[in-house]
Parts: sequence; C-alpha cells; structure tokens
Amino acid sequence: MKASQIPAELTQVLYTKEQVDDRLRDVAAEIDAEYGDKDLLLVGVLNGAVMVMADLSRALRSHVEMDWMAISSYGSGTQSSGVVRILKDLTTDIEGRHVLVVEDIIDTGLTLAYLMQNLASRKPASLEIMTMFRKPEALKNPVSVKYVGFDLPDEFVVGYGLDYAGRYRNLTDVGTLAPHVYA
Ligand code: 5GP
Ligand code: MG
Ligand code: MG
Repeated sequence: MKASQIPAELTQVLYTKEQVDDRLRDVAAEIDAEYGDKDLLLVGVLNGAVMVMADLSRALRSHVEMDWMAISSYGSGTQSSGVVRILKDLTTDIEGRHVLVVEDIIDTGLTLAYLMQNLASRKPASLEIMTMFRKPEALKNPVSVKYVGFDLPDEFVVGYGLDYAGRYRNLTDVGTLAPHVYA
C-alpha cells in the first residue's frame, strides 16, 4: 500500500502483504514437511483468519481440506471479554483427523484455550495451531502454538483480516490503529 493510501486511522504499517507472503511461504514449508502425505484439515477461526487461510492453504503443497468455526471473544472493542461461545460449529467430524487450527492473532490466548479444549474432546488424531500473529500476552498462556507468523508488540493492530468494530479487515497491510480511534 502506498503511503498516500494509508487510512488516517492507522499510525503505521507493521507488516506489508509482501512480508506476510514471504513468511507464509516458510511456515507452509514447515507444515508440508511435518504432515507429508497425511490428510490435513485446516480449521479457520472466523472472521479474522479468512485471509490467512486463503494464503496459507495456497502456499501449501499438500492437499488439504478446510472447515470453519466462529467463536466470540471480543465484542467490538479491543479488550478480551472473557466470554467465549461457539457461534458456528464445524461441519466436519474431526475424530481421527489431523487438525491444524488457523488463527489470525493470539492475544491473551483465552479464546484459543477454550477452542483447543473443545476440539481435543472430539478426539482428533492430532491437533496443532498456526497463527499469523502473536502478542506478548500469549506467552503467559499454556496453550502451545506450533506455527507462528510474527510476534507482535503489544499494540492493537488491524488489516489482513483483523478488524476494529468490523472495519479494516480488507486492508492489505497490517498496521497499528491510532489510539484516538478507540479511546
Ligand atoms: P485472545 O482471546 O487471544 O485475547 O483474543 C483473540 C482474538 O481477539 C483474535 O482472534 C482477534 O479477533 C482479537 N484480537 C486480539 N488482538 C487483536 C488486535 O491487536 N487486533 C485485532 N483487530 N483483533 C485482535
Ligand atoms: Mg482469531
Ligand atoms: Mg475482531
């Protein structure tokens, strides 16, 4: 994105789409090497993971299936609410399947801890996590994340699937939202 196209609400671009694509190529190679010929089911967490899912799945050499879940953690604000519920469940039975959860970003990891517990109870053959972005808070959470795109500073970011109050998901790059927008 050219500087002139950066919306006034963004203070700076942290990652360009090019940087995201470069990193995704490496992560995809790791995943290909790990799973080999195994049938892999990618589980995207709506809505944020839509862009990561689209790009990661196409960077993989392996054939994969995709399914989606929607869970609520944040409302429209920037703080984790602690309230997690399933808004849309999988359509796939994951018992005996190799499952890789695809996330946009992990902050407190609260959402993910709940989701992993829920998915593990369905007895998949394996269950791992790939997230495009991870914030420092996430490291305090016991949930182990196998594949990480980038570790972010503790700032609220938007773009590449990440929203603020439903907006900015379609920004190509990832940037920090100016505090005045959500203050
Ligand atoms: P957690 O439960 O890990 O605290 O929050 C996970 C979810 O909160 C993410 O899937 C995402 O929807 C939202 N979230 C966390 N940090 C950010 C951020 O910096 N920007 C945006 N737009 N959403 C975030
Ligand atoms: Mg998410
Ligand atoms: Mg959101």
